[in-house]
Amino acid sequence: MKKYPLIIGGQEVLTEETHYVYDKYTGEVFAEISAAGREEVDRAVDRAVEAFETNPLDAASRYTILMKAADLMEERADEIAAIMTAEAGKPTQDARNEILWSTDLVRESAELARQLHGECFGFWGDAWMDTRTCYTRREPVGPVAAIAPFNYPLNLVIHKVAPAIAAGNPVILKPAEVTSVTGLAVCRIFMDAGLPDGYISCLTGSGSVIGPLLTENQKIAFYSFTGSVSVGKSIKAAIGLRRCAMELGSNSATIVCRDYDPAAAAAACADAAFTNAGQVCIHLQRLYVDRAVYDEFLEKLIREAEAITVGDPRDPGTRIGPMIAEKEAARVENWVREAVEQGAVIQCGGKRSGALFRPTVLTGTTPDMKVMKDEVFGPLVCVVPFDTIDEAFTMVNDSRYGLNSGILTNDIATGMEASRRLKTGSVIIGGTCGFRIGNMPYGGVKESGFGKEGPRYAIEEMTDLKAVVILN
Ligand code: NAD
Repeated sequence: MKKYPLIIGGQEVLTEETHYVYDKYTGEVFAEISAAGREEVDRAVDRAVEAFETNPLDAASRYTILMKAADLMEERADEIAAIMTAEAGKPTQDARNEILWSTDLVRESAELARQLHGECFGFWGDAWMDTRTCYTRREPVGPVAAIAPFNYPLNLVIHKVAPAIAAGNPVILKPAEVTSVTGLAVCRIFMDAGLPDGYISCLTGSGSVIGPLLTENQKIAFYSFTGSVSVGKSIKAAIGLRRCAMELGSNSATIVCRDYDPAAAAAACADAAFTNAGQVCIHLQRLYVDRAVYDEFLEKLIREAEAITVGDPRDPGTRIGPMIAEKEAARVENWVREAVEQGAVIQCGGKRSGALFRPTVLTGTTPDMKVMKDEVFGPLVCVVPFDTIDEAFTMVNDSRYGLNSGILTNDIATGMEASRRLKTGSVIIGGTCGFRIGNMPYGGVKESGFGKEGPRYAIEEMTDLKAVVILN
């Protein structure tokens, strides 16, 4: 078991108070991590402010550092994948995919660092205005607090850290407690890539201690948060007029139309419902299927679900590893039990062994059940038939969330209708709600949050647009 210091402004610091990080499959202690308190939080923020004010990062340096960081991430892929498999319970292939997506994001951010530009325009109105000019500049906002969840411990950290650096901002990273070592590995990569001291900190430890210390510190300019709605609301309530981006939860839905091949639909839906043990913000939780293909589709979905190997994430044959904690798997089990008591039917799965939860398909669910209205964040999908597409659109929109939605159809008119009618941050036509590519603008509406990720959009969020007016 290794002992890890936290990182303040590029310097390693061991604290007296420590936490354990466990291997999510074996349950053994995997790492001992330092735990930040007020002193460490304040020092990290002060170092960030000092670096930002005394040592601004020019665009060429931002590009070079980010490109080097992507190379280092590739070089360290084996080590990082092993960390994610241990502390997040991720099957090795999933961990490797996450590294690939993340290196792409870092390189995309590097390119964008060299393209930060505004626009130039004239004024209209009185004749004298025609000869005057206005142009815009994008300027870094200042220290960014990046608060990340456990489920994609590398990718979701990179979605914050790389654009923040591309924009010229120092970053104070707060990774999830249970996946701290991945956060520390990211931090070390940027330090080794030449990011100047002060520009990166990684504050490991308890979210309920570090979070409020970060939000009360007035020197932080921007909060980039991905996590649960309840924590998102507490951050938003604490930061007053300072800016933030909130990437929160969902109970995402997909519509299966009668014109779509049921076998292909079942395979795509199984992937969206069960990947990463359903611990995905755009996990497919509510599945609305045209009654004309319902029976055939359901049978194929059950077959897909039953064929999934659940177990040791280090075994190359495993597709789904453990959930992040046994108590989370027990919570999903309770929600299933409650749904069954209220009339739902388990078509497959519903079984738990420790933190392992079998892919589960439920039918007979109603909108008021927890498995439908709350975020399940586990490998469970509710399948509901519909008679008209209008009815399907209404059911998808009947949610306090709105992150992604998907519609499996080959009919472009139906797809385009869905794009206008569905109240979600993204609408995926010809795919499920589980689709995301790193460079697309990504973020929710309603209780799924606001602000967009994807490097181009995150950079916009993390910069101020200044207008410069030339009147002479
Ligand atoms: P969480 O809200 O429990 O924790 C997220 C982060 O917030 C962690 O780093 C945690 O330590 C920190 N934190 C805890 N208390 C805090 C406080 N009082 N102040 C500030 N920070 C605090 O979420 P989680 O369990 O790690 O992740 C699961 C949630 O994340 C799900 O709801 C999921 O939908 C959401 N998520 C959303 C997206 C998206 O892009 N919309 C992506 C992934 C996950």
